[in-house]
Amino acid sequence: MGSQAVDTFCMTIDGKSVLTELTIPVINPATGSPFAHAPSATADDLDIAVAAAARAFPAWRDTPMVERKAALIDAAGIIEAHLAELTALFTREQGRPIEGAKGEIAGAAMWLKATTMLDIPVDVTEDTETRRIEVHHVPLGVVCGIVPWNFPVLLAIWKIAPALMAGNTLVLKPSPFTPLTTLRIGELIRDCFPAGVLNIISGGDELGPLMTAHKGFAKITFTGSSATGRRVMETAAKDLKRITLELGGNDAAIVMPDVDIDTIAETLFHGAFHNTGQVCVVTKRMFIHADIYDRLRDRLHQLARQTAVGDGADQGNRYGPIQNKIQYDRVVNLIEDARSAGLTLLEGSPVPDRGYFVPLTLVDNPPDDSRVVVEEAFGPVLPLLKFSDVDDVVSRANDTEYGLSGAVWSNDIVQATAIAHRLDTGTVWINQNLQSTPFTPLAGAKQSGFGQENGLAGLLEFTRPKSIYIPKVVS
Ligand code: NAD
Repeated sequence: MGSQAVDTFCMTIDGKSVLTELTIPVINPATGSPFAHAPSATADDLDIAVAAAARAFPAWRDTPMVERKAALIDAAGIIEAHLAELTALFTREQGRPIEGAKGEIAGAAMWLKATTMLDIPVDVTEDTETRRIEVHHVPLGVVCGIVPWNFPVLLAIWKIAPALMAGNTLVLKPSPFTPLTTLRIGELIRDCFPAGVLNIISGGDELGPLMTAHKGFAKITFTGSSATGRRVMETAAKDLKRITLELGGNDAAIVMPDVDIDTIAETLFHGAFHNTGQVCVVTKRMFIHADIYDRLRDRLHQLARQTAVGDGADQGNRYGPIQNKIQYDRVVNLIEDARSAGLTLLEGSPVPDRGYFVPLTLVDNPPDDSRVVVEEAFGPVLPLLKFSDVDDVVSRANDTEYGLSGAVWSNDIVQATAIAHRLDTGTVWINQNLQSTPFTPLAGAKQSGFGQENGLAGLLEFTRPKSIYIPKVVS
């Protein structure tokens, strides 16, 4: 079961498959050529989806929590049963090699199940002889979910699981670059829920703004760039919609002189180039202590030369292409800017000359104000920066508009923890990277976000508090 490929992709609206007259092409980034089409929702399709979600809301809100959780667990089982089919499709549209693609699909199923281990509490703020005050966390209504192309499935599940578990209904839109796996999952799991509870629609660039402006939504949960996040916030302000924004990052790793380079180099390397550098929380600036700078730089360069980059469908490639042409052009432009500024670029292994491939590239100690350091590359370009003083490196690491995550590498855990407390980010890892759990909030500081996902705090973002004052003495 679950291995045959499908070639027609439908939206899920009101529990049914919906096709559209117009479609958008979906390109395999390893070839640069379209291989399938996705529906292109019109404003009418959006209205129908929002109306279906609104109709489904009261009954879903009143469905016992245990049944809502059971529906999510069923959905996870269906995704697991279709792992092979979904993985192959994911690699074709997203570009990531099979192992990593499988990890995301399996991770999404795990996340669905793990979220159901959370419980929404009733807080009691007063309980006296005369009265009891209970704070309930009630669902908001119809939620709008908007997802980017770098982790299209996991980040969709990060919205589906808490929104539905908390009793909301949802209209979710994947990125126009990676709609297919999400649409397919919608078809597969839709019968786990009553019609209208989970709607998945796809479309081009115009669909996101139509959604954020739609008056039928009580909340927008958005993951994407900080630039788009600002536009989402502006539009949401018109109706005072609730929002959660998970945005960009320019995450620093600080590598202290006492580390064992041989032990950590591979983890540091993957922490920067995972998913070809297209992860919100990969290391995007690596600060290395001067005492070990040359040795670690050379070791990272050696790893880049040894690492195969190519079509994710071919065995043996660790990293794939950049996911789309716009991002490819941005990254190429950033590298060209660094080259023309006279910076030293250290390239990795050669890459295929078709599709959207860029060699893994290290930049050898560029100035802090160079574009490759200041901007979020979101691609396989890593500036290595030399430091010798802790206060100086903390201030340089914090000198960015972003504040998503950071990492400190040292054998002195006390000192590393002290540094971690000084980083202005939502997450800091010590001697590890790329970690997140269903029980821990991911919350960007500064321009990296507004609100949070995951954990009880992330779940409660899909609710509002409702305080009920209950007298104990009948007046
Ligand atoms: P993007 O902002 O271009 O697009 C994200 C989504 O928003 C897509 O579905 C897109 O169609 C939609 N969209 C575009 N314009 C819109 C508008 N005006 N109104 C509403 N929706 C609109 O981002 P991207 O290029 O797809 O993703 C890369 C960015 O996402 C990076 O900056 C990365 O750091 C960030 N990201 C953040 C997290 C996190 O958890 N903080 C996770 C993954 C990616």
